[in-house]
Amino acid sequence: MATLELKNVIKEFDDTRVIQGVDLEVNDREFVVFVGPSGCGKSTLLRMIAGLESASSGDILIDGKRVNDVGPADRDLAMVFQSYALYPHMTVEDNMGFSLRLAKVPKEERRKKVEEAARILQLEPLLDRKPKALSGGQRQRVAIGRAIVRNPGIFLFDEPLSNLDAALRVKMRVELARLHDELDATMIYVTHDQIEAMTMADKIVVLQDGIVEQIGSPMELYHHPRNRFVAGFIGSPK
Ligand code: ADP
Ligand code: MG
Repeated sequence: MATLELKNVIKEFDDTRVIQGVDLEVNDREFVVFVGPSGCGKSTLLRMIAGLESASSGDILIDGKRVNDVGPADRDLAMVFQSYALYPHMTVEDNMGFSLRLAKVPKEERRKKVEEAARILQLEPLLDRKPKALSGGQRQRVAIGRAIVRNPGIFLFDEPLSNLDAALRVKMRVELARLHDELDATMIYVTHDQIEAMTMADKIVVLQDGIVEQIGSPMELYHHPRNRFVAGFIGSPK
């Protein structure tokens, strides 16, 4: 079980307010996509949910507990970044098991979890390779594998496919949807790509300049955009 709640979340950098009072409820196992143009605050919002950045005011609750009241190791979430940030000198297996090693998970249990993640991501034949011997799509799957081994209730994805070519992006979208079914986890997915949002989301959060313009299912946004920005962004003529 993993629910997420944002209550009037505000973030200021120096004197600039980049997140302007965001309210949001995410249900257990929902696939929620934050979409909006570059600079609208998607990454900042995701980093605050991850507890990597604190809000200037407002509350972020995971299963009813304030994110910043829970120590980093005990937060029931894992984040996948746009830059895969794999350790170049480690094998795929060691990259995927690294956080478990830090958490002092015994070797055998670690291996079991890594093998299970490798099965789900079809990385089994590649466990002994180093990142430089992998394609872009394979690297991205390793980055996702690092999150899966921790078995989090909430996955946070920050534009995980934006470094991949168009064909691979389409394939990975399908894989991520399958992953969502198989893992039974809550997923928060950030993208500036409207098609990704429309095809992957249960619920879309449209952002502009740190403000939530609209929240709804892809069909709700498409057929009933609340304003010109949403209409233009989601692509329905108004
Ligand atoms: P997005 O991910 O939607 O492209 P970001 O969340 O990265 O947007 O950025 C939102 C706004 O906050 C931008 O104007 C950006 O310049 C600003 N910003 C992000 N991080 C910082 C920071 N550490 N210091 C100052 N400004 C920042
Ligand atoms: Mg960003």
